[in-house]
Amino acid sequence: MFVTLSNRLDAMSKRLRGKGRLTEDNIQETLREVRMALLEADVALPVVKDFIAQVRERALGAEVMKSLTPGQAFVKIVHDELVQIMGERNDGLDLNARPPAVVMVAGLQGSGKTTSIAKLGRLLRERDKKKVLAVSLDVYRPAAIDQLERLASEVGMDFYPTDPTGDVVATARAAADQARTGYYDVLLVDTAGRLHVDEAMMSEVRGVHEAITPVETLFVVDSMTGQDAVNTAQAFDQALPLTGLILTKADGDARGGAALSIRQITGKPIKFMGVGEKTDALEAFHPDRIASRILGMGDVLSLVEEVERSVDHSQAERMAGKLKKGKGFDLADMREQMQQVARMGGMGSLMDKLPGMGQMSEQVSQKMDDSQVSRQIAIINAMTPGERHRPEVINGSRKRRIAAGSGLQVQDVNRLLKQHKQMQKMMKQFKKGGMQKMMRQLGGGGGAPPGGMPPGGGLPPGLGGR
Ligand code: GDP
Ligand code: MG
Repeated sequence: MFVTLSNRLDAMSKRLRGKGRLTEDNIQETLREVRMALLEADVALPVVKDFIAQVRERALGAEVMKSLTPGQAFVKIVHDELVQIMGERNDGLDLNARPPAVVMVAGLQGSGKTTSIAKLGRLLRERDKKKVLAVSLDVYRPAAIDQLERLASEVGMDFYPTDPTGDVVATARAAADQARTGYYDVLLVDTAGRLHVDEAMMSEVRGVHEAITPVETLFVVDSMTGQDAVNTAQAFDQALPLTGLILTKADGDARGGAALSIRQITGKPIKFMGVGEKTDALEAFHPDRIASRILGMGDVLSLVEEVERSVDHSQAERMAGKLKKGKGFDLADMREQMQQVARMGGMGSLMDKLPGMGQMSEQVSQKMDDSQVSRQIAIINAMTPGERHRPEVINGSRKRRIAAGSGLQVQDVNRLLKQHKQMQKMMKQFKKGGMQKMMRQLGGGGGAPPGGMPPGGGLPPGLGGR
């Protein structure tokens, strides 16, 4: 199910994943795409409109704009709203009644009522160890009664023999009596359907409903009928106090429009989903799992994983430990940090992803040329391990040697050493005052970042790392 929708939304989430920031423009554009995808999936128009409005409102809010990973945050909103329109959680059968609990199904002919009764019977027998009696009120088609009898014996529930010449309401009452006197836990009532909604059928099911007062009155609907499914559900809902829906033939439905519209329009929960012809092909309808399936949620999770992966945790931890012990931040550490930043797509993209740093990042990234990072790394590479560890030994002649070795000028080496000193200072502050103090210092000046922030320089652990 949901193949088309899933493909479209999956492509969308992949594309958004690459975006460090979302602008109002690309949110609008993406919303247009989501809208198209939903309409293509045959979701009812009012549902699409509501859905888009909800997503838009949330997407333009702080939730996405200030998010660590806006693309991911957007996809999460789509996911949440999908869950929302499908009913949030799974509603199982409510059998809270003095036994026998009567469960009645209604729906058009061929929608899958009889099959669903058998599936429910099997579930109640096998999972809940219930004693179940089934009765068919489909007196118009003798084959339909036989069909239920056959299925009943297959799934191990008892069958009440229907007199095809008798009155439907009287049969329903008699079956209910037998369920009572026979100490059944559940009575499953199969009804006749027509090809179209008609008044005779409606008044018949209404009569049955009044006679046996079911705890569950389930509307069975073929999901392949798309928006028609929604219309018939509405018609039945007006005629009968429905307690829930069973969506059948989900296995053959590539679009999924009914699943997405029907809850929102009828306000009735989808309790089960039929996913095949066999009696075990019934699934509890879990909106969150369905939404994840639609969005290929592995991908959303992988968004998080990707960010995490690009950070070398052991390295960050080692660095944090080192700082905690009061050991200095040497040039080798600085190089590690710069390499980490480079791996994460450079300084600008990293700043973008930090909450609350959106505005600052533009100013900062202008000053931070990522190509500088590789030059700085080259300089540190040209040093000896001893020099990296104790930069104070780097005198004039060493500077000339390092400059030559990295193909740069002595003044570049000087600049790097100065930056390293500034970073060391920042590290100390970070250690003392933590993140917030440092951020205040960085952002507080307004305009260009103060000297503390080295161009293209590394991040303290906990900022770049974790
Ligand atoms: P009824 O007229 O409402 O009682 O419908 P039936 O239970 O007789 O089902 C009509 C047809 O749909 C039968 O061929 C069933 O095997 C088939 N069917 C019912 N539910 C499902 C389902 O979830 N998946 C598939 N693939 N077929 C189903
Ligand atoms: Mg039937």
